[in-house]
Amino acid sequence: MNDIKVTFTIVTLKHEPQIDISGSYENVLKIYIQVLLAFGAKCGVDESGIMKCQGERFQKYSQNIKENLSHLMVLSSNNAIGQLYNIFKQMDFGDPFAFFPQPLTVDEISVVREEMIKRYLGPQYENYKSYYDNIWKNITNNYNITHYENGHNTISSIGEKGKSKRICRFCGLKIPETTFNNKSHSISEALGNKNIITNDECDACNAFFGKNIEIDLINCLDFFRLFYGIQGKGGKKKFASKDFEITKDNIQNELLLKIQEENIALEDKNKIKIQLKHPQKINWQNVYRTLVKYALSVCNESYLQNFKETIKWIKSDFSCKELSWVTILATNKTSKSFPEISVFFRKNENTELPYSFMVLEINGLTFIALIPLSSKDNCNFNSELDFNRFWELLKPYNQNPILKRFKPLADEAKEFTYDISFEQRNEHKNNNA
Ligand SMILES: [Zn+2]
Repeated sequence: MNDIKVTFTIVTLKHEPQIDISGSYENVLKIYIQVLLAFGAKCGVDESGIMKCQGERFQKYSQNIKENLSHLMVLSSNNAIGQLYNIFKQMDFGDPFAFFPQPLTVDEISVVREEMIKRYLGPQYENYKSYYDNIWKNITNNYNITHYENGHNTISSIGEKGKSKRICRFCGLKIPETTFNNKSHSISEALGNKNIITNDECDACNAFFGKNIEIDLINCLDFFRLFYGIQGKGGKKKFASKDFEITKDNIQNELLLKIQEENIALEDKNKIKIQLKHPQKINWQNVYRTLVKYALSVCNESYLQNFKETIKWIKSDFSCKELSWVTILATNKTSKSFPEISVFFRKNENTELPYSFMVLEINGLTFIALIPLSSKDNCNFNSELDFNRFWELLKPYNQNPILKRFKPLADEAKEFTYDISFEQRNEHKNNNA
């Protein structure tokens, strides 16, 4: 008999993983029922001999569900059960979720999530909703949003699927002038992106970006990748130079730092300051180019006609001396180990605001950058007045502390130092990078 496949969707406040169970009809049916039972469904056979399962879609994670899933792990060696177990392992008791024995579309997921928030927050919901609508209002009134956020179970492939029909969005070439044999990750794999793929990025452009611009962003994030355990290609277990070595003890979840004494300054008796000079020099204009490259990799190709100069710039055809600021914010660390990207395109003719900007969120860090050199902009937003008008708009983000803001006018590699303060507070040591 042919194999069959069923899909479960779990919607939490932040994620919406889908799990596929495939195999023989008999096996899949068995696991399907076991999973439903684990989530408290009642299954039985009615008078006409038809099996019916009935369960509650909106639930809160509980000790009971945890035990049921652990039990299922023992019963079944199916991959899907392991995935299911791992999803819930990251949740706390009382966290709300919704459970569907079917795949859901993006629109269905947002309806479910809204309903879930409503039930979870009860009477506070209206306050929450008006607060949320209010902080997003200025953005959604002015911009269309493209958003990608992929866990490990779904793949987003952007652009033309058929290889022979592809035209590279960065160089305009197609087969046989160029090739499309490699998987082009829209966001570098080293930042934890496995599943957001741009079809219409050719091998030559992909190799160029990887070697020449993306490396600067990846290098400047070395410390954070280690700190937050971002799993890139081959992982990241150590960050070292001739002056220091940082390793991560994954069992204790501690960072171990070995450093030469001359790099430590005692500020007062409770505070020491450490300077870590990065072993590689960083070209910050390339860091900016990389963020813009990510944005142009995920946007619908119809937008690209407005970014002809921008594309020449990210391909390093020229240096730009009139760039705006790039901001890095410290946001709450989430359990996500993959990046998410949002790209905003102005939907009106209000040139007081930039035509486009992007937000990249990686575990605890948020990058915000305007997409420069668009034919739809009248200015570069490189004066404080113009930039602040834009920054005011960003209420969902601009409440977070700024880690670094830079205007990378020099298109050259420069030395880069992390300043880290350690403060002795009670028994605990905290660091603020
Ligand atoms: Zn190309």
